[in-house]
Order: sequence, then structure tokens, then C-alpha cells
Amino acid sequence: THFGFETVAEEEKAKKVGQVFHSVARRYDLMNDVMSAGLHRLWKRFTIETSGVRSGDRVLDVAGGSGDLSRLFAKKVGPTGQVLLTDINASMLGVGRDRLIDDGAAVPALQCDAEKLPFPSNYFDCVSVAFGLRNMTHKDRALAEMHRVLKPGGRLLVLEFSQVWSPLKPAYDAYSFKLLPIMGKLLANDEDSYRYLAESIRMHPGQEELKQMMLDAGFGRVEYHNLTAGVVALHKGWKY
Ligand code: SAM
Repeated sequence: THFGFETVAEEEKAKKVGQVFHSVARRYDLMNDVMSAGLHRLWKRFTIETSGVRSGDRVLDVAGGSGDLSRLFAKKVGPTGQVLLTDINASMLGVGRDRLIDDGAAVPALQCDAEKLPFPSNYFDCVSVAFGLRNMTHKDRALAEMHRVLKPGGRLLVLEFSQVWSPLKPAYDAYSFKLLPIMGKLLANDEDSYRYLAESIRMHPGQEELKQMMLDAGFGRVEYHNLTAGVVALHKGWKY
């Protein structure tokens, strides 16, 4: 706006996201398992198994946090391929890098903002972003950047919370708004961060809206799969 309100709000969001992920980093993996009852592992495995990534491919994991997708991708691409773990948050990236080293995975970790990726154009066969897009201030810029760094024929995978099947919505809302902050308090002593996470899930665009955003960013053949009744959706789009 004329008065710069948008800019202030944007800065606030980026700052809040930074604080939240700094605060949850140490307990992030445990909380993921507890809050999703282990389902996030299945969602991630589905993402990898349907990714089409092959031996020798170059994969960029954006907002990769503690590195779950990177670790699985590293097995797919093998020694001739390349996987890069990236995240804007040093605390999350630190946890991810340590875990990958412990697992013996050869995955470099790099701190960078998805909205300004420090990579050449037309470089990667696959870009993934799991549970990261909803935290970004300018999703359109991030999608445009992911499109830029992909090779023609390469694909973007977006795994993200989505619109749950409507009959389940009341139960799901009760879970995310009431139970999630309580679990955050009990397990991580961090009610606020988990309240933010519930809020960010509710605000995130649904399946069709995200599909349109990907089309607007230049992706073709955009499709999505609902997982667990739409709690999560996996969107795929190709660069031509
Ligand atoms: N991909 C991991 C997973 O699925 O477990 C981590 C997901 S975590 C919920 C979201 C991550 O997005 C955080 O690590 C956060 O730092 C990162 N993030 C938020 N905004 C970002 C941005 N603009 N660029 C890169 N990463 C960002």
C-alpha cells in the first residue's frame, strides 16, 4: 500500500517464521511424529516414490529443515546424482545437517531463502518443498524461483497441508486449534509456536488454489493427489 503497511506485515511474518522455527528446531522431529501420528513419514515416502527421480538426477530440497526428503532422495539419485538440502533457518538447517552426517548421507546443506535461490537457471531435475511453502512471505516469488532453477522437463513437488474433506473438517479443526497447542505446550513447552503452525495451516490455499498458483508461475501439467482425506496434498508441476 501507499503507507507501506504490507511491507511491515511481510517483515513481521518473516520474523515470526524465523522465531518459530528457531524455537521448534530441536524438538521438530519428535513433534512431527507425535502430531501426525507418524503419518508424515508415509506422506514423504509417497512423495519420493512417485517423484520419478532416478539415479544421477540433481535434486534441490527447498525449506528442507531436518532433511527427511533429502535423505530419501540421496538414496534414489545414488553416487552419480546430487541432492542439496536448503533452508532459510540456521537452527533447522543445523539439525538437518547433523542428522544427515549421522546417517552417512552425502548431502551438502546450504542456508538460503527460497525467494532468492542462489543457483543457476535450468539446473535441477527435481525441486521439492515439503511443508515449507505456507511459511513463505511471497509464495509467487518462491514458485517462480523454483521454476527458474529447474531444467526444462524437470518437476516441482509441493507437499503441504491442504483442505481436508469437508465432513472431517470439524474434527480436524478441533484437533489443530485445541489439541495441537496443548501438545506443543506439553511436549515442547512452546504453545505459541504450535498455535502459529495451526493458524498457518488454516490460512494456506486449498488444492485448486495452489494448482492455479503453480500454473501462474509457469508450470505445466499441474496435478495433485490428496493424502489422508486432504489433510495433505502433493502437487506436481512440470517445467517446459
Ligand atoms: N521440509 C521439512 C519437513 O518436511 O520436515 C521441514 C518443514 S518445516 C515445517 C518448514 C521449513 O520452512 C522451516 O525449516 C523453515 O525454516 C523453512 N522456511 C520458511 N520460510 C522459508 C524461506 N523463505 N526459504 C526457505 N526456507 C523457508
